Amino acid sequence: MARDTSPQCKQCRREGQKLFLKGERCLTDKCGVERRAYPPGDHGRGRQRQSEYRVQLREKQKARRYYGILERQFKAYYDKASRQDGITGENLLRILECRFDNILVRLGFAASRRQARQLILHGHWMINGRRVNIPSYQLRDGDVIAIKSTSSASQVIRDATELTGQVPAWLQADHDALTAKVLRRPERREIAAPVQEQLIVELYSK
Ligand code: SF4
Repeated sequence: MARDTSPQCKQCRREGQKLFLKGERCLTDKCGVERRAYPPGDHGRGRQRQSEYRVQLREKQKARRYYGILERQFKAYYDKASRQDGITGENLLRILECRFDNILVRLGFAASRRQARQLILHGHWMINGRRVNIPSYQLRDGDVIAIKSTSSASQVIRDATELTGQVPAWLQADHDALTAKVLRRPERREIAAPVQEQLIVELYSK
């Protein structure tokens, strides 16, 4: 599975905000954005020219980095969203939110999307009683998630639940049993991604 291997704190600094890519470290004063609040590179502290295209491009890159997705798959999601009924930008965010790796983070079962992907790839999770090891798997209403009974990762997952605030209303989680259910797909206002999706639609519509 191809993935972005560039340093995560640099990705946040490039986008000028915390994207919470590293789990617990993001909550400490070791956070790269807290320590160096300017873009990486030799010209990071120089003045940046803000064209319309640049603003749109950065918003798309930020969304990709937040969800940990490479360009080709992100564009495929956009194409799928544009074929669906409704508002394309909202459809896109809903598709991204319903990825298996993202849902594990929202449920508090992983401290970061990278950790979620690793747990999924190593076969620690089941959906509706069947092992699913595909991080991009799209969950649907009523899907039931559970840790595999023989999983050796339960302590790591319990540690992640300690970092969790509130589970969103479209999901239901049992942090003792390490099970969960997708109640429905999220409304836009329930998606806590730091993304202005309309800028991404404008970029791809050019
Ligand atoms: Fe981003 Fe987390 Fe690194 Fe801070 S610690 S810059 S939020 S990845």
